[in-house]
Amino acid sequence: GRSVCAPLPVLGRDVTVPLVTGGEVTYAALDYAASAPALQRVWDDVAAYAPYYGSVHRGAGYLSQLSTELFESSRRTVAEFLDCRPDDEVIFTRSTTDSLNLLARALPAGCQVFVFATEHHASLLPWRDARVTYLDAPRSPGQAVDALERALALREPHGPALVCVTGASNVTGELWPVTELAAAAHAHGARIVLDAAQLAPHHPVSVRDLDVDWVAFSGHKLYAPFGAGVLAGRTDWLHEAEPYLAGGGASRRVTRRDDGSLDVEWHCGAARHEAGSPNVIGAYAIASACKALTEAGFDALVEREQHLIRRVRAGLAEVPEVKVLSLFGDDAPRVGVISFVVEGFNSSRFAAALSAEWGIGVRDGLFCAHPLVRTLLGTDPETQGECGAPEAAPGEASLNAVRVSFGAGTPDEHVERFVTAVR
Ligand code: PMP
Repeated sequence: GRSVCAPLPVLGRDVTVPLVTGGEVTYAALDYAASAPALQRVWDDVAAYAPYYGSVHRGAGYLSQLSTELFESSRRTVAEFLDCRPDDEVIFTRSTTDSLNLLARALPAGCQVFVFATEHHASLLPWRDARVTYLDAPRSPGQAVDALERALALREPHGPALVCVTGASNVTGELWPVTELAAAAHAHGARIVLDAAQLAPHHPVSVRDLDVDWVAFSGHKLYAPFGAGVLAGRTDWLHEAEPYLAGGGASRRVTRRDDGSLDVEWHCGAARHEAGSPNVIGAYAIASACKALTEAGFDALVEREQHLIRRVRAGLAEVPEVKVLSLFGDDAPRVGVISFVVEGFNSSRFAAALSAEWGIGVRDGLFCAHPLVRTLLGTDPETQGECGAPEAAPGEASLNAVRVSFGAGTPDEHVERFVTAVR
């Protein structure tokens, strides 16, 4: 009931969709955790720049110079948004998945990796060529820190090590104790990378205050369009590693030796891992989104989102058949991502009905975090894949879940409609 700031204008606000029951309704996008609608402001900035773009870094023409400046200033804007240290580097990638795979390719020899088995697959899977310790699902933030401490204490003391952790879960929306995990990692001589895909759109992320070594996020979850992401942080491992992609832009000098083979000298700096023509529009859109969120102010955005979270959770609590999934319990701080099952309903059909009968777009499945969702549902790992989960027999656990997620562009009406529809 308390008044909070207005939702930020986003694309698709007025899109109408047909209902199976007849007529049409404005689309309620409640799948922000998958991809958030782009801010109108981001779209306007990109449209204003679009007639002027040229190739980045190599062109001599005026528009190429302009694009190069916009690309490089976008890097500075992102560094500011993330409150990076002066020596940190911002690398533009395609997505969080791409950023974490890039870092995985830059691990020093013999690096040990520590990751909770509850992570999104983008944080869980890229390290499989290294020696990985998978930590069991903790049931509280304190347990997470203890489990990491214990695992790190057992590691071989002198080699390189990396901890990878998510800031906010894409399944439960729960916040992880990043500062404490970073302190534990550093106390044991390990580095830490933060998967901020779900955190950065909802909370300010300060690399300095959290004291993380790297942070990764995706533009399309941060109210920019698809196609660009960020890896930001320490330069040493990145500069010592082979380039992520071999090609133009990453190479400073290529010569042929007397024996006919190639001698390649690679760039240091972000260019080392940004071979090929960079996605200047994607980078510019991310920078525009960073500015828009900063100007709107995270205090106001968080206040509004917490109001929506309370409304959805209260609405779901009124329906006895609904079970909300949680690792850390009801009181855990969280962002606007809520997964649940409805007793007696197949989650995929439930989500399909929200779309067909109410014009509400949510997601169903295991949300690219199969081990976590199976832990939360208590289902057998062998039972089924991500899609088309069979109906659970009466009295049996559901085999997948429904996820509703929202953010800075969500009007109250969307969550009210959702609550009514579930009821
Ligand atoms: N990490 C988390 C926590 C996510 O929620 C997602 C996207 N669902 C990713 C990583 C991967 O992001 P992307 O698909 O943009 O690479």
